[in-house]
Amino acid sequence: MARIWNFNPGPSTLPLSALEKARADIPDFQGTGMAVMELSHRSKEFAAVHEQTKSLLKSLFGIPDNFHILFLQGGASLQFAMVPMNLLKQGRSADYIVTGSWSKKAIKEAKIVGSARLAGSSEENQFNRIPSPDSLDLDSEAVYVHITSNNTIAGTQWSRFPETGNVPIVADMSSDILSRRIDLAPFGLIYAGAQKNLGPSGVTVVLIRDDLLAQCRDDIPTLLRYQTHVEKDSMFNTPPTYSIYFMKLVLEWVKEKGGLDAIEKENNAKAELLYGTMDKYPEFFKGTVETDSRSRMNATFRLPTEEFEAAFISEAKSAGFGGLKGHRSVGGIRVSMYNAMPLKGIEELTRFMEDFHKKNG
Ligand SMILES: *Cc1c(COP(=O)(O)O)cnc(C)c1O
Repeated sequence: MARIWNFNPGPSTLPLSALEKARADIPDFQGTGMAVMELSHRSKEFAAVHEQTKSLLKSLFGIPDNFHILFLQGGASLQFAMVPMNLLKQGRSADYIVTGSWSKKAIKEAKIVGSARLAGSSEENQFNRIPSPDSLDLDSEAVYVHITSNNTIAGTQWSRFPETGNVPIVADMSSDILSRRIDLAPFGLIYAGAQKNLGPSGVTVVLIRDDLLAQCRDDIPTLLRYQTHVEKDSMFNTPPTYSIYFMKLVLEWVKEKGGLDAIEKENNAKAELLYGTMDKYPEFFKGTVETDSRSRMNATFRLPTEEFEAAFISEAKSAGFGGLKGHRSVGGIRVSMYNAMPLKGIEELTRFMEDFHKKNG
């Protein structure tokens, strides 16, 4: 078996123990004589998988009792539309803070549905930072304030969330959910595609608080209503059973590692090592974002020339490191180091960076 160090931005690397467990379960899941993907979603065996996945997520992430946990389809991209369809009523508006390509897509969808205000943006700085608190122009009457907690493409992350008073925060946490401990009190709704930190693609986690659910519109199509999915416990139609099952394996791995605190500690160590190595040679590994906005999930940097960048990516590939090419809109190098990337992977990558600098710097 030859597994690479997989730095893909999403879908991304998964814990080996989860992959092996899934493989062992495939022909006959728990004596059912069927694989999980052959089970009825209404069977008691799948119902147990579904319940355990919810309860693991709830305990590991510290989700309060007044939240509903939904497993939906359509990716974070459908949530860009579902959030405003459910919450934006006539005569009301929502605030959006735009910190990268994904938040731009989110506000675009909201404007199709209703009134969305730009309450802050770092676009004029090529999204190289999280806007400072005093640059935000928040509306105290807004239905919600939408943020992207980690900007997967730009390589920035909110370290402290904006102060929004009584206005709930709605957050796209696709690329940093369950990577650090967060006080969920200011959040009314959180959504995340699973394929960065939680499992394979195909399932989208939505956490919605009671009081926001109560405000949702009921004059929109059934499948697009959060209320439908809460009432049917994500079983209004056939859910992505295999993706949910796989997410459970990933959550069990998180628990075995020591839970969120252990994960956060390792994520911090990885980011410190990676950025520390870049900062030793700032003229060679040129970070593309402001230091205080750096993401602990996606580190982005440029090399002195595009030729160096191409050589870095191809030599890294030969040495067993994949997925390092920056997003086409940014260029350069992007190191995605989600939960399932161990510290050892970053130790080996930074050793490669040191060697590459020695040869070319
Ligand atoms: C990957 C990503 C998305 C897109 O998710 P889909 O599941 O492909 O719709 C949205 N937002 C962020 C922050 C992402 O990282």
